[in-house]
Amino acid sequence: MKCSYCNMQAIAWEPAVRRQYCNNHYAWFIERKVEKTIEKYKLLQGVRKLVIAVSGGKDSVALLRILHKLYDGKIKLLGVTIDLGIDQYSREASMIALKHYKELSIDYICVDLKEEYGFTISYIKMNKRVLRLHRSICSLCGTVKRYVLNKIASEENADAIATGHNMNDLLYQIIASMISGSREDLGKALLKTPSRNGLVSRIKPLAFLSDKQTLLYNMAINSAFFWKSCPYAEQGTLKRDVLDALDSIEHKHPGFKESLLVNFLKLVESTKQATTGIVYKCKRCGMPTNKPDICAFCKLRETLLERIKT
Ligand code: SF4
Ligand code: ZN
Ligand code: ZN
Repeated sequence: MKCSYCNMQAIAWEPAVRRQYCNNHYAWFIERKVEKTIEKYKLLQGVRKLVIAVSGGKDSVALLRILHKLYDGKIKLLGVTIDLGIDQYSREASMIALKHYKELSIDYICVDLKEEYGFTISYIKMNKRVLRLHRSICSLCGTVKRYVLNKIASEENADAIATGHNMNDLLYQIIASMISGSREDLGKALLKTPSRNGLVSRIKPLAFLSDKQTLLYNMAINSAFFWKSCPYAEQGTLKRDVLDALDSIEHKHPGFKESLLVNFLKLVESTKQATTGIVYKCKRCGMPTNKPDICAFCKLRETLLERIKT
């Protein structure tokens, strides 16, 4: 199988555009796709300094590599990696993120949750029942990651935070928001949320890439990524079932997922309802929160530290 653009051997077939690509042309195709997303949705408008959240997994590594290729020298890039304290998993993933920062000579900050805040995600997982924390471990971990990233971005005067959420993540958020009826969930499906009251703008440049595309991109540019799954990743969840169903429709109707996302975004844009939630200041740490008293992170941390002391 030859590349549709040159004589090299093809490594990927893209059914939506009916083309096959060699390594070089595949990297070009993906980078163009991300650039078009950034331009169409004005993701980097007014951004002079950008925090890039890098866990070391395939999506965040692809995000770092693509943004570096497209914007190095035009925008100040700052990589941020959080060691969540999930034993070996966190250490190995963080090492890969560091390797990329060094290779690309990008400034970076690594936060060790245990050193900085006195607890780890493993600790939460082990003590969830005793602590009467009823949310899933991934939801609690999400609160922690969002908080830490926002704090660093604020302190560093960054204009936005880029995360490696891909098309599957966004489509699931859309469906999750319909199930929960929550405005906060709906906001998580947007490609860009505005900065307001201490909450730094968040952007998702990989919104139109599938899992397979970020994987193939890393392979095409020969970029190392951490491929093991988190030991706490929830199996057999509603999320998995929803994504499997969407994938099976996509298989029969190439382009279905992309048009679902595009049309959803048009709908939200026309109603603007997802971006108007009130943002309060946490009475403990002063960081932005959707709760009128103390933020979800401070509440979680207080519960954890109380337990650790006893
Ligand atoms: Fe955190 Fe869940 Fe991701 Fe593991 S799978 S890093 S617990 S969000
Ligand atoms: Zn080619
Ligand atoms: Zn707080």
